[in-house]
Amino acid sequence: MTFKMTEVQSKALKSAIKVNRIISEIHGHEKGPTVVFFGGIHGNEVAGVFAIEKVLNNLLESKTAINGSIYGIAGNLQALGSNHRFIEKDLNRLWTFDHIYNAHENLRANEDNEQQDLLDLIEDIIFHNHPPFYFIDIHTTSSQSIPFITINDALINRKFSELFPLPVVLGIEEYLEGPLLSYINELGYVSLGIEVGQHDSIESIHNAEACIYLALTYAVSLKEDDCNHFRLYFNTLKESSQNNSSFFEVRHREAIALSDNFKMNGIFHSFQPVKRNDLLAFKNDIPVQAKKEGYIFMPLYQKQGEEGFFIIQKINPLFLRFSSFLRKLKGYNVLVVLPGIKWKNKKRGILEVNLRIAKFFAKKIAHLLGFRAKKIQNNRMLMYNREKVARTKDYNKEKWFKK
Ligand SMILES: [Zn+2]
Repeated sequence: MTFKMTEVQSKALKSAIKVNRIISEIHGHEKGPTVVFFGGIHGNEVAGVFAIEKVLNNLLESKTAINGSIYGIAGNLQALGSNHRFIEKDLNRLWTFDHIYNAHENLRANEDNEQQDLLDLIEDIIFHNHPPFYFIDIHTTSSQSIPFITINDALINRKFSELFPLPVVLGIEEYLEGPLLSYINELGYVSLGIEVGQHDSIESIHNAEACIYLALTYAVSLKEDDCNHFRLYFNTLKESSQNNSSFFEVRHREAIALSDNFKMNGIFHSFQPVKRNDLLAFKNDIPVQAKKEGYIFMPLYQKQGEEGFFIIQKINPLFLRFSSFLRKLKGYNVLVVLPGIKWKNKKRGILEVNLRIAKFFAKKIAHLLGFRAKKIQNNRMLMYNREKVARTKDYNKEKWFKK
């Protein structure tokens, strides 16, 4: 299936642009990284598309010297054309290996075709370009929010995202099935999700532009002094995030089904503190209270979505440092001496945990050592080692990694 050029409207800018799957691409004369930006994986989140188009075209027009290659890619083209999150299926929930390998057998929804087109393109980019690779997926939220980064907690992601003056939220992929970035993580590359603000606010576009410039500078596609406005962009983000650059982890996901009638109890912003038992929302007219204290995260103010909100908590920086240290020592090899934990597949770094025995300590220790917990069935949990699949070797000569 071939996709047509699509007109995308911005309510914030009151203007439209026409884009193809590849919004723009730049190939420099010097060797360097390959940086890939995605915008509009959700079709009503157009800020990234507009920012990518503007920044990449500015770089082309000003003939700025680029190291390596830069790609700007449009996500759900059909949904972008109609300003919907998706047409039939959420394109950001289809990236499980199971779905990818069986997709040709499934009845094909719009989004299955979009995904196949994106898969072919990603494969092509990796084949024709050079490491290190960086993948940055730009989103917006239905609620007002400061900009923030979400990552799968591999050290390469942690270290790269730490450069941005933004809060970083870990562990969301344990709660979501099949986001694009989890797939790219499984391939071993640096991949960041950046949420730049509310869908239709002008700040979201400015934040997205700033993120693109900073990412290109940190990855050394641009030289810091070439990026004339580096300080300006840095300060834009620092101000937008209200000086918040802490690490957080997801502690609760409020799941909602398609048939649920879900409504937040008034206006909440992401990162707003909540106490235990605070009345946060109504699900089918039944009150939903906070089960934990922490900060509310991504409250839902639109019809389409599978999460009502999340609750996140700050991670102690000492915990982060200790965990980096243990991972570098490959401390995960000792996990199997604990009762109730054994290797399921040592080569791929998959542990099997018997929750009847190891319930209380398993998840905490696993997180410390870089594992992602998933698939609970009959008291068994599988844990996947993110460090084992990460292509750390591709990055360990980079300045930001050695820091
Ligand atoms: Zn999104």
